[in-house]
Amino acid sequence: MLSGKNAVITGSTSGIGLGMAEAFARAGANVMMNGLGTAKDNADAIEQIKSHGTKVHFSGANMLKPAQIAKFVATAEKKFGSIDILINNAGIQFVSPVEDFPPEKWDAIIGINLTAAFHTIRSALPGMKKRKWGRIINTASAHSLVASPFKSAYVTAKHGLAGLSKTVALETAEFGITVNCISPGYVWTPLVENQVADTAKARRMSKADVMKDVLLAAQPTKEFVTIEQVAETAVFLCSDSARQITGANISIDGGWTAQ
Ligand code: NAD
Repeated sequence: MLSGKNAVITGSTSGIGLGMAEAFARAGANVMMNGLGTAKDNADAIEQIKSHGTKVHFSGANMLKPAQIAKFVATAEKKFGSIDILINNAGIQFVSPVEDFPPEKWDAIIGINLTAAFHTIRSALPGMKKRKWGRIINTASAHSLVASPFKSAYVTAKHGLAGLSKTVALETAEFGITVNCISPGYVWTPLVENQVADTAKARRMSKADVMKDVLLAAQPTKEFVTIEQVAETAVFLCSDSARQITGANISIDGGWTAQ
Protein backbone atom coordinates (compact mmCIF):
# COMPACT_ATOMS: atom_id res chain seq x y z
CA MET A 1 0.00 0.00 0.00
CA LEU A 2 2.84 2.43 0.76
CA SER A 3 5.33 1.02 -1.69
CA GLY A 4 7.73 3.72 -2.91
CA LYS A 5 6.85 6.10 -0.05
CA ASN A 6 9.57 7.31 2.30
CA ALA A 7 8.78 7.64 5.99
CA VAL A 8 10.76 9.43 8.70
CA ILE A 9 9.83 8.36 12.23
CA THR A 10 11.41 10.02 15.26
CA GLY A 11 11.88 7.92 18.39
CA SER A 12 11.49 4.67 16.45
CA THR A 13 13.96 2.40 18.23
CA SER A 14 11.51 1.42 20.95
CA GLY A 15 7.84 1.15 21.91
CA ILE A 16 5.23 2.83 19.70
CA GLY A 17 7.77 4.27 17.23
CA LEU A 18 9.36 0.86 16.64
CA GLY A 19 5.87 -0.58 16.09
CA MET A 20 5.20 2.19 13.56
CA ALA A 21 8.49 1.48 11.75
CA GLU A 22 7.45 -2.17 11.60
CA ALA A 23 3.95 -1.38 10.26
CA PHE A 24 5.25 1.08 7.65
CA ALA A 25 7.98 -1.28 6.41
CA ARG A 26 5.42 -4.09 6.24
CA ALA A 27 3.21 -1.78 4.14
CA GLY A 28 6.14 -1.29 1.75
CA ALA A 29 7.55 2.08 2.86
CA ASN A 30 11.23 2.90 3.24
CA VAL A 31 11.94 4.04 6.78
CA MET A 32 14.38 6.49 8.37
CA MET A 33 14.62 5.42 12.00
CA ASN A 34 15.77 7.56 14.92
CA GLY A 35 16.35 7.22 18.63
CA LEU A 36 18.76 7.56 21.51
CA GLY A 37 18.94 3.94 22.65
CA THR A 38 22.09 1.90 23.23
CA ALA A 39 24.09 0.82 20.15
CA LYS A 40 22.90 -2.77 20.69
CA ASP A 41 19.21 -1.80 21.04
CA ASN A 42 19.43 0.42 17.94
CA ALA A 43 21.15 -2.33 15.92
CA ASP A 44 18.48 -4.88 16.95
CA ALA A 45 15.68 -2.47 16.06
CA ILE A 46 17.21 -1.68 12.64
CA GLU A 47 17.67 -5.41 11.86
CA GLN A 48 14.03 -6.07 12.80
CA ILE A 49 12.77 -3.40 10.37
CA LYS A 50 15.20 -4.35 7.58
CA SER A 51 13.74 -7.86 7.57
CA HIS A 52 10.76 -6.50 5.61
CA GLY A 53 13.01 -5.77 2.62
CA THR A 54 12.49 -2.02 2.24
CA LYS A 55 15.29 0.55 2.58
CA VAL A 56 16.07 1.40 6.20
CA HIS A 57 18.38 4.11 7.50
CA PHE A 58 19.06 5.28 11.04
CA SER A 59 20.03 8.60 12.60
CA GLY A 60 20.91 9.19 16.23
CA ALA A 61 19.89 12.87 15.96
CA ASN A 62 18.94 14.32 19.33
CA MET A 63 15.47 15.87 19.12
CA LEU A 64 16.60 18.51 21.61
CA LYS A 65 19.10 19.95 19.11
CA PRO A 66 17.66 21.99 16.23
CA ALA A 67 20.88 21.74 14.16
CA GLN A 68 20.86 17.93 14.46
CA ILE A 69 17.17 17.84 13.53
CA ALA A 70 17.78 19.92 10.38
CA LYS A 71 20.65 17.61 9.39
CA PHE A 72 18.49 14.54 10.12
CA VAL A 73 15.74 15.73 7.78
CA ALA A 74 18.23 16.78 5.08
CA THR A 75 19.96 13.38 5.30
CA ALA A 76 16.66 11.53 4.91
CA GLU A 77 15.78 13.62 1.85
CA LYS A 78 19.19 12.97 0.34
CA LYS A 79 19.20 9.21 1.00
CA PHE A 80 15.60 8.59 -0.13
CA GLY A 81 15.12 11.46 -2.61
CA SER A 82 12.05 12.70 -0.70
CA ILE A 83 10.22 12.59 2.60
CA ASP A 84 6.57 11.65 2.02
CA ILE A 85 5.60 10.73 5.56
CA LEU A 86 6.82 12.42 8.72
CA ILE A 87 5.96 10.98 12.11
CA ASN A 88 6.89 12.96 15.20
CA ASN A 89 6.87 10.31 17.87
CA ALA A 90 9.91 10.83 20.13
CA GLY A 91 8.78 11.69 23.62
CA ILE A 92 9.72 11.56 27.29
CA GLN A 93 7.79 11.91 30.52
CA PHE A 94 8.53 13.21 34.02
CA VAL A 95 6.10 13.31 36.93
CA SER A 96 6.29 15.86 39.75
CA PRO A 97 4.18 18.55 41.47
CA VAL A 98 4.56 21.75 39.48
CA GLU A 99 6.32 23.67 42.28
CA ASP A 100 9.02 20.97 42.46
CA PHE A 101 9.24 20.36 38.71
CA PRO A 102 12.94 20.63 37.76
CA PRO A 103 13.22 23.41 35.13
CA GLU A 104 15.65 21.32 33.07
CA LYS A 105 13.06 18.49 32.92
CA TRP A 106 10.41 21.00 31.83
CA ASP A 107 12.70 22.24 29.03
CA ALA A 108 13.54 18.69 27.90
CA ILE A 109 9.89 17.59 27.76
CA ILE A 110 8.79 20.69 25.85
CA GLY A 111 11.85 20.36 23.60
CA ILE A 112 11.48 16.68 22.64
CA ASN A 113 7.66 16.34 22.73
CA LEU A 114 6.77 19.67 21.09
CA THR A 115 9.53 21.90 19.73
CA ALA A 116 11.24 19.05 17.83
CA ALA A 117 8.02 18.62 15.81
CA PHE A 118 8.12 22.29 14.83
CA HIS A 119 11.70 21.81 13.57
CA THR A 120 11.06 18.57 11.64
CA ILE A 121 7.88 19.99 10.10
CA ARG A 122 9.49 23.26 8.99
CA SER A 123 12.35 21.33 7.36
CA ALA A 124 10.25 18.63 5.66
CA LEU A 125 7.33 20.79 4.43
CA PRO A 126 8.94 22.56 1.46
CA GLY A 127 9.60 19.21 -0.29
CA MET A 128 6.08 17.94 0.47
CA LYS A 129 4.53 21.18 -0.82
CA LYS A 130 6.59 21.00 -4.01
CA ARG A 131 5.48 17.41 -4.66
CA LYS A 132 1.89 18.14 -3.56
CA TRP A 133 1.76 15.07 -1.33
CA GLY A 134 2.58 14.57 2.30
CA ARG A 135 1.44 12.97 5.51
CA ILE A 136 2.43 14.34 8.90
CA ILE A 137 1.40 12.42 12.00
CA ASN A 138 2.17 13.54 15.52
CA THR A 139 2.00 11.06 18.37
CA ALA A 140 0.22 13.13 20.97
CA SER A 141 -1.66 11.50 23.88
CA ALA A 142 -4.93 11.54 25.77
CA HIS A 143 -3.01 14.27 27.60
CA SER A 144 -3.41 16.48 24.50
CA LEU A 145 -7.11 16.67 25.46
CA VAL A 146 -7.27 16.24 29.23
CA ALA A 147 -4.88 16.75 32.14
CA SER A 148 -3.63 14.61 35.01
CA PRO A 149 -1.96 16.01 38.11
CA PHE A 150 1.85 16.12 38.29
CA LYS A 151 2.31 15.98 34.51
CA SER A 152 2.39 19.73 33.83
CA ALA A 153 5.15 19.70 31.20
CA TYR A 154 3.84 16.62 29.37
CA VAL A 155 0.24 17.89 29.30
CA THR A 156 1.44 21.31 28.12
CA ALA A 157 3.62 19.79 25.38
CA LYS A 158 0.90 17.44 24.12
CA HIS A 159 -1.79 20.19 24.12
CA GLY A 160 0.73 22.31 22.17
CA LEU A 161 1.37 19.49 19.70
CA ALA A 162 -2.38 19.24 19.02
CA GLY A 163 -2.47 23.00 18.35
CA LEU A 164 0.58 22.82 16.07
CA SER A 165 -1.05 19.96 14.10
CA LYS A 166 -4.27 21.90 13.52
CA THR A 167 -2.39 25.04 12.44
CA VAL A 168 -0.13 23.22 9.97
CA ALA A 169 -3.16 21.25 8.66
CA LEU A 170 -4.81 24.55 7.71
CA GLU A 171 -1.63 25.94 6.15
CA THR A 172 -1.13 22.83 3.98
CA ALA A 173 -4.74 21.85 3.20
CA GLU A 174 -4.50 22.75 -0.51
CA PHE A 175 -1.15 21.04 -1.05
CA GLY A 176 -2.24 17.38 -0.85
CA ILE A 177 -0.80 17.22 2.66
CA THR A 178 -2.62 16.03 5.78
CA VAL A 179 -1.55 16.69 9.35
CA ASN A 180 -3.06 14.77 12.24
CA CYS A 181 -2.48 13.73 15.83
CA ILE A 182 -2.92 10.25 17.17
CA SER A 183 -3.75 10.38 20.86
CA PRO A 184 -3.34 7.07 22.68
CA GLY A 185 -4.34 6.35 26.23
CA TYR A 186 -2.14 3.86 28.10
CA VAL A 187 -0.28 1.72 25.59
CA TRP A 188 1.26 -1.59 26.60
CA THR A 189 4.98 -0.83 26.03
CA PRO A 190 8.04 -2.10 27.92
CA LEU A 191 8.03 1.25 29.72
CA VAL A 192 4.53 0.65 31.07
CA GLU A 193 5.23 -3.03 31.78
CA ASN A 194 8.10 -2.02 34.08
CA GLN A 195 5.88 0.51 35.85
CA VAL A 196 3.42 -2.27 36.74
CA ALA A 197 6.00 -4.31 38.63
CA ASP A 198 7.42 -1.25 40.44
CA THR A 199 3.99 0.11 41.38
CA ALA A 200 2.80 -3.30 42.58
CA LYS A 201 5.80 -3.50 44.89
CA ALA A 202 5.50 0.07 46.15
CA ARG A 203 1.74 -0.18 46.82
CA ARG A 204 1.76 -3.82 47.95
CA MET A 205 -0.86 -4.62 45.33
CA SER A 206 -1.11 -7.43 42.83
CA LYS A 207 -0.01 -6.64 39.28
CA ALA A 208 -3.57 -7.25 38.07
CA ASP A 209 -4.96 -4.70 40.56
CA VAL A 210 -2.28 -2.15 39.63
CA MET A 211 -3.26 -2.46 35.97
CA LYS A 212 -7.00 -2.19 36.59
CA ASP A 213 -7.20 0.24 39.51
CA VAL A 214 -4.15 2.44 39.01
CA LEU A 215 -2.98 2.54 35.38
CA LEU A 216 -6.33 1.82 33.76
CA ALA A 217 -8.45 3.75 36.27
CA ALA A 218 -9.12 6.40 33.60
CA GLN A 219 -9.54 3.98 30.69
CA PRO A 220 -13.16 2.73 30.62
CA THR A 221 -12.42 -0.43 28.57
CA LYS A 222 -9.94 -1.42 31.33
CA GLU A 223 -7.69 -2.69 28.56
CA PHE A 224 -4.37 -1.34 27.38
CA VAL A 225 -4.08 0.05 23.87
CA THR A 226 -1.67 -2.07 21.82
CA ILE A 227 1.28 -0.74 19.85
CA GLU A 228 -0.18 -2.38 16.72
CA GLN A 229 -3.49 -0.52 17.10
CA VAL A 230 -1.62 2.81 17.14
CA ALA A 231 0.74 1.83 14.30
CA GLU A 232 -2.03 0.57 12.00
CA THR A 233 -3.99 3.80 12.56
CA ALA A 234 -0.90 5.72 11.41
CA VAL A 235 -0.66 3.55 8.27
CA PHE A 236 -4.37 4.16 7.57
CA LEU A 237 -3.83 7.93 7.83
CA CYS A 238 -1.34 7.61 4.95
CA SER A 239 -3.84 5.85 2.66
CA ASP A 240 -5.96 7.50 -0.04
CA SER A 241 -9.05 6.69 2.05
CA ALA A 242 -7.75 9.13 4.69
CA ARG A 243 -7.12 12.03 2.27
CA GLN A 244 -9.88 14.16 3.83
CA ILE A 245 -8.78 13.52 7.40
CA THR A 246 -6.67 16.52 8.32
CA GLY A 247 -6.41 18.64 11.44
CA ALA A 248 -7.91 15.76 13.42
CA ASN A 249 -6.91 14.49 16.83
CA ILE A 250 -7.68 10.78 16.77
CA SER A 251 -8.21 9.27 20.20
CA ILE A 252 -7.25 5.64 20.76
CA ASP A 253 -7.86 5.62 24.47
CA GLY A 254 -10.55 3.06 25.35
CA GLY A 255 -13.02 5.88 26.00
CA TRP A 256 -10.82 7.87 28.43
CA THR A 257 -11.50 11.30 26.90
CA ALA A 258 -15.22 10.61 26.36
CA GLN A 259 -15.76 11.06 30.11
P1 NAD B 1 9.61 4.75 24.50
O1 NAD B 1 10.38 5.28 25.66
O2 NAD B 1 9.42 3.28 24.35
O3 NAD B 1 10.20 5.33 23.14
C1 NAD B 1 10.61 6.67 23.02
C2 NAD B 1 11.51 6.81 21.82
O4 NAD B 1 11.94 8.19 21.75
C3 NAD B 1 12.79 5.96 21.90
O5 NAD B 1 13.12 5.50 20.61
C4 NAD B 1 13.83 6.97 22.39
O6 NAD B 1 15.16 6.62 22.03
C5 NAD B 1 13.36 8.22 21.66
N1 NAD B 1 13.87 9.45 22.25
C6 NAD B 1 13.77 9.89 23.52
N2 NAD B 1 14.42 11.06 23.66
C7 NAD B 1 14.91 11.38 22.43
C8 NAD B 1 15.67 12.46 21.91
N3 NAD B 1 16.08 13.48 22.69
N4 NAD B 1 16.02 12.44 20.61
C9 NAD B 1 15.66 11.41 19.80
N5 NAD B 1 14.93 10.36 20.23
C10 NAD B 1 14.57 10.35 21.54
O7 NAD B 1 8.17 5.49 24.64
P2 NAD B 1 6.74 5.16 23.99
O8 NAD B 1 5.87 4.77 25.11
O9 NAD B 1 6.84 4.29 22.81
O10 NAD B 1 6.30 6.64 23.54
C11 NAD B 1 6.38 7.11 22.21
C12 NAD B 1 5.47 8.32 22.06
O11 NAD B 1 4.13 7.95 22.39
C13 NAD B 1 5.83 9.48 22.98
O12 NAD B 1 5.64 10.71 22.29
C14 NAD B 1 4.81 9.36 24.11
O13 NAD B 1 4.56 10.59 24.73
C15 NAD B 1 3.60 8.86 23.34
N6 NAD B 1 2.60 8.18 24.15
C16 NAD B 1 2.91 7.02 24.85
C17 NAD B 1 1.92 6.39 25.61
C18 NAD B 1 2.18 5.11 26.38
O14 NAD B 1 1.31 4.71 27.17
N7 NAD B 1 3.31 4.45 26.20
C19 NAD B 1 0.62 6.95 25.66
C20 NAD B 1 0.36 8.10 24.93
C21 NAD B 1 1.35 8.71 24.18
